[in-house]
Amino acid sequence: MLKLKKEHYDEIVKHCVAGLPNEACGLIAGTIDGDVKQIEKIYLLTNIDKSREHFSMDPKEQLAAVKDARANHYTMLGNFHSHPESPSRPSEEDKRLAYDSTAEYLILSLQEENHPVLKAFGVDKEKNVTVHEIEII
Ligand SMILES: [Zn+2]
Repeated sequence: MLKLKKEHYDEIVKHCVAGLPNEACGLIAGTIDGDVKQIEKIYLLTNIDKSREHFSMDPKEQLAAVKDARANHYTMLGNFHSHPESPSRPSEEDKRLAYDSTAEYLILSLQEENHPVLKAFGVDKEKNVTVHEIEII
């Protein structure tokens, strides 16, 4: 299970709403203790695709985030992106690009106004998707 602080959840929602009508993205880092992944830091990145249906993280920002996480002794846990007009589940492209079977892929759906839906997914090597529980703390 994933533990996400309320303040970080709010930051993710704010970043994704600010990015509308396009998809927004970012990285999540933290600690792993057994089955529990605690998110300690989120990185709000620029979607250089500037698209409603795709995202690519700015490589410079991505590198800076990885360096910062390392300096803080955090593990990169995965990433998040928004779906401005579709539900919170991985698209075919999301699955294709999910190359890390240990990563958490968070998707925030903004399809319904004033009702953001955040879910976390794992994608294995055969591209099977599992839903992971997120606890907001
Ligand atoms: Zn997507």
